Amino acid sequence: MNSRDVLLKRLEQDLVGPLDPAEVIESNPSDRYLTGILFPRGARISPEDDDNGTAVSMDKMEPSSEQSNQHHSGGAGRPTSMGLSFETLVSDQAKPGELLVQTTGARYRKDPQQGWARSPLSLNIKIPLIIQSPIEQTIPLTHAQPGNTDLDGLEFYMRKLKTPQGTLAINLVLRNQSKLKVRDDTQNTENALFQASFCVTGGVNTRIVPRKSITAGESDDDQTAALIYRNNPEYASGQTCSAAWDANTPSQVSVRTEWLPRKITPSISPSGDAVFDKARKDGGLDVSQLGTCDEKELNNLLSAFCDCYESWIHKTEPEITGLPAELVSTANRHKSQWQETLRRMRQGVTLLASDSNARTSFQAAQRAMLLQSTWGGEEAAKKPRKMEWRPFQLAFQLIVIPGLVKKDSPERSLLDLLWFPTGGGKTEAYLALIAFLLFFRRLHYGEEIGSGVAVIMRYTLRVLTTQQFERAARMICACELIRINDFPALKKNFSVGLWIGKDSTPNSVIDAQRNEAAAMVLRECPACGEPLVPTKEHNAFSIRCLEHGCALKGRIPVWTVDEDIYREKPSLVIATIDKFAQIPRTPNIRNLFGLGLPHQSPDLIIQDELHLISGPLGTTAGLYEFAIDLFCSKEDIRPKVIGSTATIRNAEEQCNGLFHRKVFQFPAPGIDAENSGFSVAIPLDKKDGRLYVGLSTVGRSAKFTLQSATASLLQANQELSPAEKDHYYTLVAYFNAMRELGGAQVMMVDDVPKAMSIFSNDRPGEKIRSSLDIQEMTSRLQQHEIPKLLAALKKPAGKGSVDILLCTNMISVGVDIQRLSLMVINGQPKATAEYIQASSRVGRSDVPGLVLTIYNNAKPRDRSVYESFFAFHACLYRGVEPTSVTPFAPRARDKALKPVWVATVRNLLAGMDANPMFATARRHSSEVDKLIEIFKKRAEDIDFEESVSAVNDAKAALDEWSQWTAVRDYWKDSSNQSLLKSAEYLAARRAAGLQTGHTWSAPNSMRDVEPSVDFFLKD
Ligand SMILES: [Zn+2]
Repeated sequence: MNSRDVLLKRLEQDLVGPLDPAEVIESNPSDRYLTGILFPRGARISPEDDDNGTAVSMDKMEPSSEQSNQHHSGGAGRPTSMGLSFETLVSDQAKPGELLVQTTGARYRKDPQQGWARSPLSLNIKIPLIIQSPIEQTIPLTHAQPGNTDLDGLEFYMRKLKTPQGTLAINLVLRNQSKLKVRDDTQNTENALFQASFCVTGGVNTRIVPRKSITAGESDDDQTAALIYRNNPEYASGQTCSAAWDANTPSQVSVRTEWLPRKITPSISPSGDAVFDKARKDGGLDVSQLGTCDEKELNNLLSAFCDCYESWIHKTEPEITGLPAELVSTANRHKSQWQETLRRMRQGVTLLASDSNARTSFQAAQRAMLLQSTWGGEEAAKKPRKMEWRPFQLAFQLIVIPGLVKKDSPERSLLDLLWFPTGGGKTEAYLALIAFLLFFRRLHYGEEIGSGVAVIMRYTLRVLTTQQFERAARMICACELIRINDFPALKKNFSVGLWIGKDSTPNSVIDAQRNEAAAMVLRECPACGEPLVPTKEHNAFSIRCLEHGCALKGRIPVWTVDEDIYREKPSLVIATIDKFAQIPRTPNIRNLFGLGLPHQSPDLIIQDELHLISGPLGTTAGLYEFAIDLFCSKEDIRPKVIGSTATIRNAEEQCNGLFHRKVFQFPAPGIDAENSGFSVAIPLDKKDGRLYVGLSTVGRSAKFTLQSATASLLQANQELSPAEKDHYYTLVAYFNAMRELGGAQVMMVDDVPKAMSIFSNDRPGEKIRSSLDIQEMTSRLQQHEIPKLLAALKKPAGKGSVDILLCTNMISVGVDIQRLSLMVINGQPKATAEYIQASSRVGRSDVPGLVLTIYNNAKPRDRSVYESFFAFHACLYRGVEPTSVTPFAPRARDKALKPVWVATVRNLLAGMDANPMFATARRHSSEVDKLIEIFKKRAEDIDFEESVSAVNDAKAALDEWSQWTAVRDYWKDSSNQSLLKSAEYLAARRAAGLQTGHTWSAPNSMRDVEPSVDFFLKD
């Protein structure tokens, strides 16, 4: 039994029971066991179970109307029934069909001397299916075995309905009909059925058939899902409990109830289909070979690589003819996407063959990527010196490069969306593209024009910026060494800047020198791993490596203070999306875009985790994007945009709303979810996948459920072999909101250890796990605390390891700690994308992850996911909800239209940067008319209905501004003559009943301001 099976077995023993089939237990089994119990009718959650009202506060998250629970035995009541819904086909409708139902469970009888003795129950019955018989019927179990008192009060209720397809839809429910006896706990426990379960198969003339799938929607995404998940039929859903099935042979399907439903999702291999083995063998993926071979060899290797994908297309194409008719057109749409992918890959190869600057840059980028892969502390020691591309990483480079090189290429204006599961290595793919572009700009445009900011890389969350900044810094340093050694003619250095809020890094050099800890985001030398030291020089905050013999000895080309960034104009700027709310405010920001400077404007925008820029955040960001897009455009040539995500729906619409660009998705989906050529699901017999387990709070408080589950998983670690202990040692506990996390914190300290001692006492000789080290990863962390926490999480069991990590969605993006394998998710996150992202944080190494999701039975959505757990997890990505952005809608215009126009005019009209006086003549100049035209076109393409109002609002704002005579400052909260003031500042003044004066409001952040939880994406 592997470690994960041990945890699962104990979870079942601790929460459902029994520990021993013939057990006699001291405590009342309805207190001892959490779930799997059918109580007598009328039972309520006991007050001690609802402990301190914590459960109530957890439930408060939903409006009270949603707490109603119709026929469900949820809410404050105890469950008295459990059911399954499924469909059957009676082959010969002239004859009756039949269901074979096996029921199991246990009664506990109290013996005054010994305690509660378990009495197992098992019963097989046949239920005839006669189409003409009444729709509803009840079948008392005592009819099957008269005199068996264990069956008293139990009955099946069945409801059947003929479907238009000629099948019978069955709802079969096991009910406990015994009534609650007031003040007779013993009797009530004896009347409860524990470990209740039943299993149904088709008998004579009958089989269980897949339920008619939810009608596929109209959108391309829906139809793609219908195609690629066609081999995952749903056979049943649960009621109060969950459902599972065995459908190995279609004629012998059985469906069953589950209290702890489970589903393993296979690992995705980013190594791609076997067709790429040939390229791998020939060295076509070998970064070193690609970086050093001659021109002809490079062309051969890359062409042969493209051939591999072509052979995948040839291999997959014939499968289309075998598909059901309604799926063929979708499959053909996919096929044309494969062909377009191949065409663009080959186009990249052709370009590298014909353009020597592009080729030189491509090869230099390969060498830089190889060099940086050999650096970096202990992890690198384990790493082989050879670096190989995953096929998708190399293909993506080939696809994107022509749009970077040729400004007039049609692909320049596409948003290339890298859509790959988390942990696949998306970052390397775009780091290589950045390296390529850095060299190319210098070689192609020359030192002067080719310098300045080449790439802006944007993230939505802070935690990422730290981890990703380190990786990017390493790549930039490698580019620097390659530049110095291989390109002596290139004199200007490459550098990277971290441009984020002042809460995270200081904005001024003076502040940085006062608070070096906050400014030192990069603490260790990328090459030698030794601590870096800050250096005060020329009124700049820079860092150095002092290590003798280190390749990077001297100044590290890394900037973290805004003042330095505006002056240095680093080749790569890494920013949070919120920082762009500052574009109307800070004069020197224009330097980053090369405005008024001889440099080329940025050629590439990388938007990581694109799905996160949705809802209000995306809506506001989309409006700012109008200005940013203009800033990055020179002579009407817009920058290339690439995005990445693992989870998105309606990418087409979202990318248009945000970036005003068409999307090219890479890789294109295949015929099956399991194989797109570039990503392939690994069969479970070759590699274990991530195990999802569900647990419902039904009949219990949310708090008690969480406490028991956590305690079981933590204590179970004691049973693991020393070699495997570490894998499941640190429990990651995920919460959907800070207040839920806050409540749980106390519980983890006080109640979980008590529950652990109960579980350890049950197992003679087992020690209780000693005191728990609890850490927190939430928005309360300071930026400089993040690296410390990440380091602590890497510590193995017994060596200062963290026992419990309480976290919010802060963990969901970019956190990559290989040893984490165990997670509890407290409540289904509102967005499935978030659920996938969060749960993907565990099981990233070879140790398979275990994710236990606790479903709050009082919330309809939680209950629905729990009851269809198996089907939901079999097609997890299908569950991702579409998101939308509406940058031109009235609410967005109210919030950001004016500051966006101020930023635009200030930065694009000569002479406006220093002086906010906007003369009427200027207002009506052709240059302003042209900007309005661009705005109009964008609004029309994105949101036609709002476009007229949006343009009118923009004109009205510009008119108002031009008539404004007493204005001295662009944005200064303390000034009486400021055009803009912070929305937060104005709100605070209004709240205090103070005058706000004649001024416009500008948000400090793209997010809706909610001080206590400003980190969360609200929807
Ligand atoms: Zn060093």
